[in-house]
Amino acid sequence: MVFSGIGYASHMAGYRIGHGYDLHRLEPCAPDGEGRPFILGGLLFDHTLGPVGHSDGDAVLHAVTDAILGAIGEPDIGQLFPDTDPAHDGQDSSTFLHDAVARITRQGFCIGNIDITIICERPKIGPRKAEMRTNVASLLGCDESAVNLKGKTHEGVDAVGEGRAIEVHVVVLLASCGSAAKDEAC
Ligand SMILES: [Zn+2]
Repeated sequence: MVFSGIGYASHMAGYRIGHGYDLHRLEPCAPDGEGRPFILGGLLFDHTLGPVGHSDGDAVLHAVTDAILGAIGEPDIGQLFPDTDPAHDGQDSSTFLHDAVARITRQGFCIGNIDITIICERPKIGPRKAEMRTNVASLLGCDESAVNLKGKTHEGVDAVGEGRAIEVHVVVLLASCGSAAKDEAC
């Protein structure tokens, strides 16, 4: 049996799901290497290595931004904020996220919930998970209960396991706020 595409779209109109992924190489921080200060989820971590990137290299905010953009079918973060643009050199990645949130708000969506998985050996995420969750929720303009964070290692194998890279996966569910909620914080 073939289902009507119109019927399916109508049934799912109130929700959109998106996936985001990011990886950054980690290198010694300046002046010994190209690594930037280790910023993750908007927090500064004390680490001898840092992400290599054109912006501040915040893999959590990049993956969250891409998940949100993907959910509404917008161009990805690399297309909207190309690393060839000098204006984005060292850019605070919260500006990318704010842009993505403005785009979903304009389309009448807000954050339903978001699940973030960070994979790295060091620094340890656990002690600062609660702080990062609060910060990400604040940047998204949603309740903390809608944000989940998990920290994992790569069991010592491959570049991530050897501490030479950090990887982040994000899944987000957007829910329709209805036209009346478009101008309100969700
Ligand atoms: Zn990135």
